[in-house]
Amino acid sequence: MLPEGSRGYYCREARRWSHAGRPSLGPGRAPISDGTMPANPSREFPASQPKRPERTAGDGELDLGEAPSEEPHRAVAVGMTNEGRVRDLNEDTWRLDPLSRDLALFAVADGMGGHDRGEVASSVAVETLFDETRAGLDKLETYSVESLAQALLRAFQQANRAVVECGRTNDSNMGTTLCTALMYRESEVFVANVGDSRGYVLRNGHLTQVTRDHSLVAYLVQMGELTREQARTHPSGNILVRSVGSANQVEVDLFYFPVYRGDKVLLCSDGLWGEIPDDDIRRVLQESASPEAACRALIDLANHNGGKDNITVIVIEI
Ligand code: CA
Repeated sequence: MLPEGSRGYYCREARRWSHAGRPSLGPGRAPISDGTMPANPSREFPASQPKRPERTAGDGELDLGEAPSEEPHRAVAVGMTNEGRVRDLNEDTWRLDPLSRDLALFAVADGMGGHDRGEVASSVAVETLFDETRAGLDKLETYSVESLAQALLRAFQQANRAVVECGRTNDSNMGTTLCTALMYRESEVFVANVGDSRGYVLRNGHLTQVTRDHSLVAYLVQMGELTREQARTHPSGNILVRSVGSANQVEVDLFYFPVYRGDKVLLCSDGLWGEIPDDDIRRVLQESASPEAACRALIDLANHNGGKDNITVIVIEI
């Protein structure tokens, strides 16, 4: 139940995606995963982007733990958003869609700008990302780690350009975060990110933040000036050092990891993680009986803790 003072409810419908079967990318294609969890599950990919992704969790920070056993299964994903308890507008956008029999795309964007421009920025970014990813994948004859990563990164750059052009057209400084996951069947996930919307993975009761925030406070944490918990509620926490729409090209972080049955992947805006410590996110994800229940419980808890910002979550249960 929502706390008193919370206006509205989940203002967009929950949507589900599922896919039966879990074959990995086959012989003759670049190997993504042999079904075992590598010691270092995230790695950097060569990309044909104008800017190669320089910052990935390839340095061992991303330790998702032991790989559970393999069984046929279905993944289900649900997304929800809520304006929170303070703001009149919801400037977040989320979307999830199966792009094809083998691929599904998920995205959360948190827009910034005066008046309603934040809402426009996040919407333009997400819609362009989906259109361009679909178009890019249509051109691929076979899928490989590299071809999928490149298609996602190209679409990301096109989403950036679309926001830049929209800002110019409207004579407005529009910008947005964009955190997106491309899932190949239920076996491999690529996460591409700019800004401070986050991707997490819950595995075996352990929650890992996959993405890195491109914010001032995140860099202060890296430099040892702030603790992670201090940064979470810092008054300057909304200052981004990288965003979609601020320049003609954007540096994109790309992460790749295999996923296993029982894993839960979470994409969310800072309206969630700014209100809820990671350990509570972990507990809610772990205890929720379904992705839909997890989304509702996370949004309720963020509102209970203040709901100072728009709250958007996508939960993918593998
Ligand atoms: Ca926000």
